[in-house]
Amino acid sequence: MAYIEPAPIKDKENPFESMMSRFQIASQALGLDNEVYNVLKTPVKQVLVSLPITMDDGSIQVFEGYRVIHSNILGPSKGGVRYDMGVNLDEVKALAAWMTWKCAVVDIPYGGAKGGIRCNPRQMSAGEMERLTRAYTIAMLEIFGPDRDIPAPDMGTGPREMAWMMDEFSRTQGMTVNSVVTGKPLVLGGSLGRTEATGRGVMVSALAAMEKLKINPYQSTCAIQGFGNVGSFAALLLEERGVKVVCISDISGAYFNENGIDIKAAIEYRNENKGTLEGFEGAENIDPDELFHLEVDVLVPAAKEDVITVKNVDKIKAKLIVEGANGPTSAKADAIINEKGILVAPDILANAGGVTVSYFEWVQNRLGYKWTGERVNRRSDRIMKSAFERVYNASIEYKVPMRIAAYIVAIDKVAKTYKYRGGF
Ligand code: GLU
Repeated sequence: MAYIEPAPIKDKENPFESMMSRFQIASQALGLDNEVYNVLKTPVKQVLVSLPITMDDGSIQVFEGYRVIHSNILGPSKGGVRYDMGVNLDEVKALAAWMTWKCAVVDIPYGGAKGGIRCNPRQMSAGEMERLTRAYTIAMLEIFGPDRDIPAPDMGTGPREMAWMMDEFSRTQGMTVNSVVTGKPLVLGGSLGRTEATGRGVMVSALAAMEKLKINPYQSTCAIQGFGNVGSFAALLLEERGVKVVCISDISGAYFNENGIDIKAAIEYRNENKGTLEGFEGAENIDPDELFHLEVDVLVPAAKEDVITVKNVDKIKAKLIVEGANGPTSAKADAIINEKGILVAPDILANAGGVTVSYFEWVQNRLGYKWTGERVNRRSDRIMKSAFERVYNASIEYKVPMRIAAYIVAIDKVAKTYKYRGGF
C-alpha cells in the first residue's frame, strides 16, 4: 500500500480544483477560520494499489486501484467505487470530497470517500471483473469496514460488484458482514429502492426547485444527459410526474422527440440492446452537444464531470439545472450560470438520494431487518425535501447561489462537528 503522487489529469478543468474553488468561496462566506479550512481541504488518506489480474487469455494485466478518504469527522467514510478508463487521483480526490459535503448536506452520519479502478468494464468478461473486484477488496482490507469505510456502486459498478466485495470481505472475517458495502443485490441485504434512489432524489429536487420557480411540471419539458442508472430513473420518475422528457442521450448519441420520449420504451430498448440506446427509434438522432442548448425548462446532466463548461454554458436556455452527476458543471461556468439567472440544484444536494438510501441499507443490515420500499421512499423523499429547503434558505440568508449555499450548509456542519471532537 503506497501513498501516491498525482496521476495524469484529464483535459478541461481539473475536478479537484473545481471542487476547491467552491469550497473556498463558501468557506469565506461562512467566515470559516483558517485552521479548520486547512483540515477540511486535505483528504485524510489516499491509497493507491497495483492489482495484477490474470485475464481470460492467460496474460497478466496490472490495474491501478484507488481509495481516497476525504473525511471521517461525521462518521465512517462513505462513497462509491468507479470503474472507468478516466479514473485518476485528482478525480477520486474531488469525488471523495464531494461525498463529505453530500452526506453533510442531507444530514447523514458519514464522512466522505471514493474509490476507483482504471479499467474498461465494457471490454472485460464477468470473470475478469470478479477477479479484479476481489483483488481490490483484499488490497483495501485495512481501509474497508462497516464502521470505517463503506464502499458502494458508482459509474461502471453495480450490485454484482458489491456482492463480490461483500463476499470477499466476509471471507476474511470468517462471517457474513453485509454492512461493509451498500448497493448490494436485494437477496444479500440490499435495500428496496436503492437502485432507483439517486434518480428519485433528482426527481424530488427537480420538483422542489420547480415549485420555487413556479413551473408547473405538467407543462414543463426536460432534457437529460446520460441514460445510465441515474439518468434513466430520473427520466422515468419525472415523466411519471408529468414532465415531458424531450431529449435523452448516452455514449451512442442524443435522441430528441418534441412530443416527449416514451421513457419506459427507451429503458426496455436499452436493456435489450447491450446497455445502449444505439438505434432507438422513438426519437430523432441529434448532435449530443445540442442537448445542452435545447429550449427546455429543466436540464439534467446525469453522466460525468465537466460537461457544462465555458464552451457551452452561454447557449443554455433551461431555467433550471438539476445535477444528477457529480461535478457536471465546471467552476468557471458557475459565474455565467448565475449571471443568466439559472437556478441550479447542485450535485451535492440533487444526487444525494443514492447515498441516503445507502445509509438506510446500512441501518437495515445492522438492525437485521428489512424495510418496505414504501418506507424507504417516504423517508428518503423527506430527507431530500428538507435538505433542499435547508439549502434554499441558506442561499437567501447568505445571498449566494444554491451551489455555494449547499457547500455552506455542509462545511458548517462538518466544521462544527470537528470543533466538538477536537484535534491533536
Ligand atoms: N456513488 C454514489 C454517489 O456518488 C453513491 C455513494 C454511496 O451510496 O455511498 O453518491
